[in-house]
Amino acid sequence: MGETPRARDITIDFECQFSVTLQQSDFVSIMQAFLMLLPQLLTDFFQRVLVGFGEYEMSLPRKSFACKGCGNDTAFVWKTRHGKATTLLTWFRWIALKQLQVQCTRCGRKQYITRMLLGLEPRQRVPEATRRKLALLGALTSYRVAAKLGTLFGWALDKMTIWKAVQHVGASLAFALDETEAPRGEADGTGIGITGIPKRGKELKVLVQYKQGGGIRVAGLAIGPYNGSWDTLWEKSLAVLKRFPRPFLLVTDGDTSLLDSLKGKVTVLLQRCLWHLPYQAQYVLWKDAVKRKSQEWLRVVGELMEICAIRPLVDCPATVQAMLDSKRLRLETTIAYCRERGYKHTVAYLENARGDLFTALEHRLAGKTTSRVERLFRTVNMRINVSKWSTQGALNVIKVRLAYYYNGFDA
Ligand SMILES: [Zn+2]
Repeated sequence: MGETPRARDITIDFECQFSVTLQQSDFVSIMQAFLMLLPQLLTDFFQRVLVGFGEYEMSLPRKSFACKGCGNDTAFVWKTRHGKATTLLTWFRWIALKQLQVQCTRCGRKQYITRMLLGLEPRQRVPEATRRKLALLGALTSYRVAAKLGTLFGWALDKMTIWKAVQHVGASLAFALDETEAPRGEADGTGIGITGIPKRGKELKVLVQYKQGGGIRVAGLAIGPYNGSWDTLWEKSLAVLKRFPRPFLLVTDGDTSLLDSLKGKVTVLLQRCLWHLPYQAQYVLWKDAVKRKSQEWLRVVGELMEICAIRPLVDCPATVQAMLDSKRLRLETTIAYCRERGYKHTVAYLENARGDLFTALEHRLAGKTTSRVERLFRTVNMRINVSKWSTQGALNVIKVRLAYYYNGFDA
């Protein structure tokens, strides 16, 4: 099942016989009359082509199908070319087709061959090609708008049909790292509002991978509670992570919990100096002969830990600015403290680092898109804010949407 027989071109003679009553000859009247005609024309066309190919099949000594009773694939007779109706979702609307039925002359079993000719699974009413188109439509805009767009151009498709297609296609999409692309990427989370769950009660987590030729692709996607496990983000990528020739370099805002699920399995390097800084500072403090865990050592390391802890997902600009001011002040105070005590290495290290320490935070403030994940989140949010969602429903629509924008999904 699934393959349409294609031995040679088959020409179907298709004569249109219809009558349509119009009151006027203006453009809109003609378009509207055509839209009324479309279902009839479409159904007839499908029917005629299927019968044509059915006749061709029946003329072959060996058929493309076999009897489900006895396995015979040569001896059949027509039962009917216009049997029980079955429905099919085309790109424009549902149509009802009269099924083609043949009978095995060995065992007498009757079977339909319509779906075999269509390249569809038994009882499959929505072809994958239709599903992908509707899913993409529903992922690019709200279901309401998607349905409206359809009716504008004569499609008889409702919101629920589009919603179902999004769910089906979204659920079938999986994201993972690609070992042929760069061993670098970014991960981040953003709050999303989902109906029935308090605003910002859930977090969308995204792992993106840099492509060799520039740009990014989505390599992981999950929705879960704040501070929740990031396991699902990595689950399909663990094997790929191990195959990269060098450790994967991950750029992130400083939320290290996203690496928890990789602990002991594979090494991933975090790029943001915020994470490394307090640890590297311990090394320069040692070079300055500051005794580990002494009062001075604890003061400096403790302050740096606080300064470098960036609370993710704060998106109020005034709050971010206040955080920045506070952190800068504390950093300067800490540098002054070290200078007073003659910690030369530590002072040099911190002065060198302070320039780009808060880059990510500043970008968030300025709404800049240097972080490519943040840009991706904007792509998500243009769609996510317009409708009601379940967690799974939201994840599926985001999957289709991002697959289209970043991973080459098309319909
Ligand atoms: Zn048979």
